[in-house]
Amino acid sequence: MNSDESRRAAELLHLRGQTLGKGDPLPMPLTMASMYHLPGDPAGSAQYGRTHNATWEGLEKALGHLEDAPCLAFPSGMAAIAAVFFAVLRPGDRVLLPADGYYATRALAERFLAPMGVTFAIRATATFTEGGFDGYRLVFIETPCNPGLDTCDIAAIAASVRAAGGISVVDNTAMTPFGQRPLDLGADAVVSADTKAMNGHSDLLLGHVATRDADLMAALADWRRLSGSIPGPFEAWLAHRGLETLELRFTRMCDTAEALAPRLAVHPALRGVRFPGLEQDPSHALARQQMQRAGFLIGLTFADAGVAERFIGGCALLRPATSFGGVHSAAERRARWGDAVDPGFVRLSVGCEPAEALWSALAAALDAAR
Ligand SMILES: *Cc1c(COP(=O)(O)O)cnc(C)c1O
Repeated sequence: MNSDESRRAAELLHLRGQTLGKGDPLPMPLTMASMYHLPGDPAGSAQYGRTHNATWEGLEKALGHLEDAPCLAFPSGMAAIAAVFFAVLRPGDRVLLPADGYYATRALAERFLAPMGVTFAIRATATFTEGGFDGYRLVFIETPCNPGLDTCDIAAIAASVRAAGGISVVDNTAMTPFGQRPLDLGADAVVSADTKAMNGHSDLLLGHVATRDADLMAALADWRRLSGSIPGPFEAWLAHRGLETLELRFTRMCDTAEALAPRLAVHPALRGVRFPGLEQDPSHALARQQMQRAGFLIGLTFADAGVAERFIGGCALLRPATSFGGVHSAAERRARWGDAVDPGFVRLSVGCEPAEALWSALAAALDAAR
């Protein structure tokens, strides 16, 4: 962590404390309200549960501190992505999406944008800069992409997109603001599924958008208020609590992934290992250039689906589950959802278990699966 990041991590824990009066609770209270006491002129106070909630505002303050930009919270990662699409795009616009990123983003474009006259194209993350960005109103980037862990150059793409008159949006779910800072690299907006590592406890769905563009922020706020795509206060409260340990969890997860990846890379049960922190990985050079950490996701390719499933099912410290970023390590074979990956490809999400205990369990399951 550089000094900016450690300052940000430390200050996060005191954001609320600095605003308190005598007798106020140190932790953020949970405000469950659709109605507020509102006599006379309604201006200047909380009005209604779709427009104001003190718990979201506390969460957004914490998220905004981490992103170093204004933030809006949404009820899921996809709600945050949909908000950007619907706040920005108009009939006739063209959108560029990653071919190998989170599938629901493409499905949303195909099922709901295309019929409204917003056309989209897809491009592989590893070769995302090839072909230029002329004519695109919005370019959506996911790096490292999920689940393949290929990367693309955020600063170069953001600059080209801006020069071509479009906006660039980065899905930073896999990295969090402690692992990669797309706005500082020049992107116009960041979206995140806070469902994953940001909350980290696998007990809620939530998302956010961060942008330093005031007009875009105003359009997003209108979209949220009018579409009703608002987070539940309890989810916001839990996510705020999760955020307080993000730096601690993320550091542990990345440290452990870094310790495990070289051992996995030479294990005879595996045909291939993808991890941006490995020197031989195709993503390594860009990872060093634009990522603070290599992340906590590792791609494992086994000989076939059977060996992969035996590994997942045979490891005491792995939960067989979709999604990632929780305190408990988890893994799944992505081909079971139809991702364009090898049938023996497993996405491993490294959790917060102590590294050596986790390695012992993984090694035992690898040996038994062969
Ligand atoms: C999970 C995920 C999403 C969607 O988030 P939800 O909270 O499930 O809606 C979007 N992008 C990426 C990269 C994800 O991993």
